Amino acid sequence: LLEARALNKHFGGLHVTNNVDLALEPGEIHCLIGPNGAGKSTLFRLILGEHQPSSGQILFGGEDITALKSYKRIRRGMSVKFQVPGIFKALSVRQNLEIAMQQHYPPAALHAEIDRLLDFLKLEGEAKQLAGNLSHGQKQWLEIGMAVSLKPRLLLLDEPTAGMSPDETRATGDMIQRLNADGMTVLAVEHDMAFVRQVAHKVTVLHLGQVFAQGTIDEIVADERVAAIYLGQSTPS
Ligand code: ATP
Ligand code: MG
Repeated sequence: LLEARALNKHFGGLHVTNNVDLALEPGEIHCLIGPNGAGKSTLFRLILGEHQPSSGQILFGGEDITALKSYKRIRRGMSVKFQVPGIFKALSVRQNLEIAMQQHYPPAALHAEIDRLLDFLKLEGEAKQLAGNLSHGQKQWLEIGMAVSLKPRLLLLDEPTAGMSPDETRATGDMIQRLNADGMTVLAVEHDMAFVRQVAHKVTVLHLGQVFAQGTIDEIVADERVAAIYLGQSTPS
């Protein structure tokens, strides 16, 4: 579904993404891990079209989208939840979903669709609450909801479980697996190895802007070279 070929990104003299090749099969949940500063978020922005690569190519559904603007990639079925929350805190949970969805569903179908999504997000009791009053985990779920409300083919998640309790993390993993069972392909940047272990079909380790290792979570955890790049940071286990 998605293919990155020899992606390079320089910021001035800084080589942040170095010849990255990444392929995502349709229906796959792929997790991207790596130490802080490895270039994970940058790779995300390249895939979404928020950055232009210095060189290399990105294909989506077989089409070369390297030069396409971000909004056109979204129209073709990409969606993203960023590391930093982007919900409207002064609006209710329902209003946030309405903003994300109202142009894309006929008015008669909109409310049923929102109810279904609220239920999926375990936010059915919070519909009238201001988004700013939600717990941290609930805010993240609302964001995931906004990202999946238009039923994208590819969902990009930058640290979806950041700051969540183990229970919230597990519930998030369940949500991702249910979306995946309905056919959504997922690429998630993650630090939480319990989440990676729960959901990932395949794992790519990024280090100093390069693909350092790739495989199943068991292969990655067994790889001593991978443990070594996490020196001074929490290791995958
Ligand atoms: P983290 O795990 O901390 O989120 P990351 O793997 O997502 O890290 P990036 O945010 O992609 O890492 O950053 C990789 C490197 O690129 C860092 O050294 C960062 O300072 C640098 N960088 C990122 N964006 C820019 C930018 N717009 N201009 C200059 N340097 C940047
Ligand atoms: Mg990041």
